[in-house]
Amino acid sequence: TTPQPAYKRILLKLSGEALMGSDAYGINRQTISEIVAEIKEVAELGVEIGVVIGGGNIFRGVAPAATGMDRATADYMGMLATVMNGLALQDAMRMAGLNSRVQSALDIEQVVEPYIRGKAIRYLEQGRIVIFAAGTGNPFFTTDTAAALRGAEIGAQIVLKATKVDGIYTADPKKDPSATRYDKISFDEAIARNLAVMDATAFALCRDQKLPINVFSIFKSGALKRVVLGEAEGTLVYC
Ligand code: UDP
Repeated sequence: TTPQPAYKRILLKLSGEALMGSDAYGINRQTISEIVAEIKEVAELGVEIGVVIGGGNIFRGVAPAATGMDRATADYMGMLATVMNGLALQDAMRMAGLNSRVQSALDIEQVVEPYIRGKAIRYLEQGRIVIFAAGTGNPFFTTDTAAALRGAEIGAQIVLKATKVDGIYTADPKKDPSATRYDKISFDEAIARNLAVMDATAFALCRDQKLPINVFSIFKSGALKRVVLGEAEGTLVYC
C-alpha cells in the first residue's frame, strides 16, 4: 500500500543558500536537481506544494546595508535575486518532469506571472507546483515571512522550513557541542526559550494563524518525504 501523506497542501520554504551546495555563491546544478528529486517524491504522493524561494545565495539586502547602501534598494535587489532562483528552480523541475509555475510578488510580467492568490490555488488544485518569488514584494521583510504569508493565504496545513541544519537546537550546535535537538516544541516554549525558528515576523504570523512549522535539513536524503508522511523528522513547532 502507498503511504498516506499527513498533509494535503504544504508550503515549502527553500533558502537561497540551499541552492549553492558547497559553492560560495549562486546556483549549483547538481544540488538543485537533488533538491528537485526530493520534492518530486512528495509530489508523487499527491501532496499540493507551494514553494517560497529565498535569495541569499545571490544577494541579501541586510548585508550591504552595513556598507552604506540604501536598505530598501538593497532589499529590492534581494527580491529580484529570488526571482532568478525561482526561474532556475522551475527549469530544474521541468527537467525532472514536474509541472510548475512561478508567481512573483513584484510585477515583471515578461519574465514571470504576477502573484494572484486565486490562480495559485487553482494551479495547486490542478497538481502544479507553485513557486512564489520576490518574497512579500516589500523591503524590510524576508522570504521566511513570505513563506508564513503565502502558507496562510493558500491554506497550507504546515510550513516546512528546509535549512542546512536538521532542526532547532537548545543552542547553536556549531558553538556548543552539548546542544541537543528538539523533536517538537510549542510556539510558546520556543518564545520562552528565545529560540530563533524563523525571523520574528514570520514566527508571529505562523503562531497567530496556528500554522505549524517543521524545520528539517534539505541535505538529508528522504527527510522532506518523512516530514510529509508525518514522521518525526527535524523539529516540529506546534500550536
Ligand atoms: N527580501 C525583501 N522582502 C521580502 C523577501 C526578501 O526585501 O519579502 C530581500 C531581502 O533583502 C533578503 C533577500 O531578499 O535579504 C533574500 O531573501 P532571504 O534573505 O529571505 O533569502 P534566504 O535567506 O532564504 O536565502
